[in-house]
Amino acid sequence: MSAREKRYEGKAKILYATEDPDVLISYFKDDATAFNAQKRGQILDKGRINCAIATHLFRLLAAQGIPTHWIETISDREMCVRAVKIVPLEVVVRNFAAGSLCQQTGLPLGLPLAPPLVEFYYKNDDLGDPLLTRDRIRAMQLASADQVATITDLAQTINAHLTQFFQQCHITLVDFKLEFGLDQQQQIVLADEISPDTCRLWDQAKTDPRDRVLDKDRFRQDLGQVAEAYQEVLERILAQARQN
Ligand code: C5P
Repeated sequence: MSAREKRYEGKAKILYATEDPDVLISYFKDDATAFNAQKRGQILDKGRINCAIATHLFRLLAAQGIPTHWIETISDREMCVRAVKIVPLEVVVRNFAAGSLCQQTGLPLGLPLAPPLVEFYYKNDDLGDPLLTRDRIRAMQLASADQVATITDLAQTINAHLTQFFQQCHITLVDFKLEFGLDQQQQIVLADEISPDTCRLWDQAKTDPRDRVLDKDRFRQDLGQVAEAYQEVLERILAQARQN
């Protein structure tokens, strides 16, 4: 790894250059952060598990015609991805109320949201990733109105595909965060990752609000059995992928 040129290091992944300027290697780390990196730790084998989960979900979405940065997975922690310019928006889709939505609005945990919410947050740690409005996105020149419309459409379509797939895995997709980038042709493509780090996933076989959590809330809330929950998600995805 050391001979490679590091392009960017985020909280959960490192991007390395390749000989092709259009292609990067995304390396998945075991590092975990929460609450804007105020809480830090490691989740055993998370990088391997999330790389495998993201691979399956990117492959599933690509097969449905969603443009993604994923090219191929080359080791148990590394995927080749297209180099894109990240749009500095965290796009959150919510099917049920949880997390910051409950904290900020008082809506009860688990309230169904129909139609699902598509929200935009400014990807800026110094500002604490604030919730944006479309007017603020325009004023800040983070994305054009057309780009926001395209991203919203893609986020809704991705939600429909992922909700259906996780349903087959007997998992409820509560909410999730997406990031998008612009490729060389200025086309919007899905980037970053989709994994238990970036989704809320509830086990439909369990009713207890602590037991059912299969995602990073186990780390955020010190619920224990974090790696085991991530592994459970991977096993259900692999079992379902074999059937499809
Ligand atoms: O914290 P909040 O409830 O707004 O998170 C909504 C969803 O977005 C959750 O699934 C969370 O894991 C994800 N998220 C993320 N990265 C962030 C903020 C939220 O993956 N920086």
